[in-house]
Parts: sequence; structure tokens; C-alpha cells
Amino acid sequence: MKFGGTSVGDASCIARTARIIAEAARGGNCVAVVSAMSGVTNRLVEAAKQAGAGEKEQGTAVLAALRTQHEEALKSLVRDEAARKSIEEEMDEVFGEGGRLFEGTALLRELTPRTLDAISSLGERLSAPLVAGAVRELGLQSEAVDATEVIITDAFHGGAEPLMDVTREECEVRLRPMLEKGIVPIVTGFIGATTEGKLTTLGRGGSDYSATILGAAMNADEVIIWTDVDGVLTADPRLVPDARTIPVISYREAAELAFFGAKVLHPKTLKPVMQAAIPVWIRNSFAPERQGTLITPAGRSAGGGVKALTAIQDVALISVGGPGIVGLPDVVGRTFSTTAELRANVLLISKSSSQNDICFIVSATDAPRTVEALRKEFAQDLAHEKVEHITIDSNIAIVAVVGENMRGTPGVAGRTFNALGRENVNLIAIAQGSSESNISFVVEEKAMKTALITAHREFGLGAAGT
Ligand code: ADP
Ligand code: ASP
Ligand code: MG
Repeated sequence: MKFGGTSVGDASCIARTARIIAEAARGGNCVAVVSAMSGVTNRLVEAAKQAGAGEKEQGTAVLAALRTQHEEALKSLVRDEAARKSIEEEMDEVFGEGGRLFEGTALLRELTPRTLDAISSLGERLSAPLVAGAVRELGLQSEAVDATEVIITDAFHGGAEPLMDVTREECEVRLRPMLEKGIVPIVTGFIGATTEGKLTTLGRGGSDYSATILGAAMNADEVIIWTDVDGVLTADPRLVPDARTIPVISYREAAELAFFGAKVLHPKTLKPVMQAAIPVWIRNSFAPERQGTLITPAGRSAGGGVKALTAIQDVALISVGGPGIVGLPDVVGRTFSTTAELRANVLLISKSSSQNDICFIVSATDAPRTVEALRKEFAQDLAHEKVEHITIDSNIAIVAVVGENMRGTPGVAGRTFNALGRENVNLIAIAQGSSESNISFVVEEKAMKTALITAHREFGLGAAGT
């Protein structure tokens, strides 16, 4: 089971989370994965950047605020003083390390990806002991486990990938014996370590990924992701108010939604469990009596074709073009080897048939270094005007229409574009994968919400729909 930031957001949320964990652990073996309390990682990352610029004050202030916040929660969760003391000691160690990290970073005026990972990880390392304490209050044995001991990754800081074989071995060594002794492990989400023990993170929102990595490594019967909404909805409820919970959805559909920005799932969440076909539930920790969404290999065929919509706005459109590139057969190859080298995540590709222009979309954080690397790669061609421009547009969003049964359902694209046309939404680029479970299009950022609401209505996805 994984509990996100809001599910451990304060003492009363943690108490509710602990009850869910305890009930599951009484019925069988349960490993819990927890995020940092909500907002904590953002604050740490902000302060880390300040420290990188030579200022450690924000870091000191954030640590002091986190101390108050966590100690307050601890006080109301754990009654016994001795029990509280041992958790306080665990937290003290984390605060001590945090202080040294901010200080060192400010002194050197350099924030390396490795240090950023170490600072970002502090939130999970504080929340896990708290949750374990809350579970013990309910009469069970429980211990916080640092994921650096069990999730072994490559050394790509800020977006590490698990090494599944070693991870499996470490889980057998560290977690399995705990389960056999009736101890509930509360594992820090989001983080891992290389084989040499260097701490890494799996990327922002990565606790979902931690949960499925552990689920796959331990051959779990199921993985349950507890969050603050009723499941996977037909669209982001913050943008489309009448979005509805989807009861069953396929791996492929959920993966498309996650990949195109549905924040409810980290994009890589389903990767580890696909092969073993482990079902994944998305459920609401604030309303555990509701059923939630079940993600299975096949999903359930829904007649209509379109199942959900998603949008992603922290992205940029990069275009490489000019009349001269017609004669340069390797432009496509060189463009995408460049992005691959950077591990920039390419979300959408569109190319005109004359090859005058290749445009593709990457996340906003990857965009500047992608453009920089492309300008380097094509420096010669730019100088000789074979490549005329490498441009970037950040005021755009991708909207994706997702549904496995769109395959063989003619007219989905036509209906979508007609409806958008009626609302004067201008389409900048369009892509449909050959799997036909996703049609995605690029619009101006300010038209994104209208595009979502329009398509949601067109396919009757709302509460008033089916
Ligand atoms: P957690 O902290 O539990 O990981 P997140 O904030 O990362 O939670 O993800 C849950 C949020 O994702 C919801 O509150 C909702 O606003 C947003 N969201 C975006 N798209 C969807 C969708 N299609 N279905 C459900 N939630 C969505
Ligand atoms: N705390 C981490 C983040 O905010 C990981 C997570 O919540 O999934 O990105
Ligand atoms: Mg999340």
C-alpha cells in the first residue's frame, strides 16, 4: 500500500492511514510505502536551490518549521513518552543531516543532482517513522525502513531506475523476515540507493513508482495506491468539475493517462507490475469505504471508446526546421539521439512530410538543456543554414483522449476536432499512436481547460453521461 502526501498530511490523516494499514496487516502481509507530508518536498527543493545560490537561511528556516510540524504530529499520535523519544531521536538524525547538507551546499554555492536528491529525501525519512509510530499505537509491531536499503537503482539522480534483480534480493533479506515476524514495514517512498549506497530519487511524485517496484519485487497479490480522490477519474477534477470515477481501467489506458500528465499516477507506476499482471487499485484514504479504481491487464471494455482525458501543461514544443533539412537525411536520427542522451522524456512527435520541420514536446524542465544540446549538435548545420531554426514554445499544453476501445471506433478524432472547432480551440499539432488508444493534440496553454471541458462533454464522460 502506498500513501501519498495528503494521506499523511497531518496527525489526523496519519491516524486514518495507520488504521487502514493496521486493518490490512491483520488480514495478511502488508508493506506500506509513504510519501513526505504534503508540501514538504516542494519546500525542501526550494530551499535547496537557495542554498545552491549561497544562502542557507531558507534551509535553516524550513528545517525548523518541519521540526515543529513533525513534533506536533508526533505528540498527538503517540501517547507514551518513551515511544515518542525514540522517534524523536530518529528524526533528530534526519534534521542533523539536513542541516549539514544545507550548510555544505551554501558554502560551496553548488547544488549537485546528488545533493538535491539527498535534500529532497528528508521529507520521506521524517514521515516514515511517524507512520510506524502511529501503527504501533494500534497494537501492531511496525518499523520504518529506509528505501535505500531495499530499492536499488542506477545512478541517475533525480530520475533513477530500479535494478529489479538486486532489489528483489534486498527485499527478501530486509522486508520478508519482518513480515514473517509480524512486523509491518513502513518504507520511505520516492527514494532508493545505488549498489554503492548513494542515495537516489525516482523523480517527483515517485512514491507511486516505489510502491509498484516493491509490489513486483515481493510478488504482491495487489498494490493499493491510497490518495485524496476516489480513484482514476475521467479527467482532472480540478479542471473538469463533473469528472467521474472510472471503476475499471486497463494498464495501457492508465499508463497513457499517467504519461500524459494525470497526476494521480506517476508515469512509470505501471511498468514494474505489468509483466506479473499484479492488479493496482487507486483508492481514497479519506473515504476508504469507497471502492476506487481497479487497474488490470485487460481493463473492462466500455462501449463508447473514449474513457478519459488528460492534459499536461508544464511542457514545451521544440521545433527543428528550415527548408534545408529536406536534404539532411539524418536530422530525425540526430535530433532524437540527442534527446535520448539527455534522458529527456519526449511526449509527442509530429513531423511534416516534406521534413521541413520536426517538432516534439518535452517537459518544461528538460526543455532548456534539450535546446542547448540540439544547438550544439546542429552547430555546423545552423552555421551553413542547412538548419534554419531550433525554436522553443512554452505556452502550450498537450491534451490527450484515452481509451483502449477507440481502436476500430471510427470518428473519435473527427468528433473531437469538430467539437473543439466549435469552441474556437486552435490545434497546433496532432498525434495518434498506432496503438490507437490515445489521440493527443497540442493547444495554446490558455485554451487547455476549454479543450478538456469540451471533449469531456462531447463524449458524455461526466456524471450526467453514462
Ligand atoms: P498523492 O499525494 O496521493 O500522490 P497527487 O496529488 O500526486 O496525490 O495525485 C492525486 C491528484 O491527482 C488528485 O487530487 C487530482 O487532483 C489529480 N488528478 C489529475 N488527473 C486525475 C485523474 N484523471 N483522476 C484522478 N485524479 C487526477
Ligand atoms: N514526496 C515526493 C514528491 O513530492 C514523492 C511523492 O510524493 O510521490 O515528489
Ligand atoms: Mg503523487
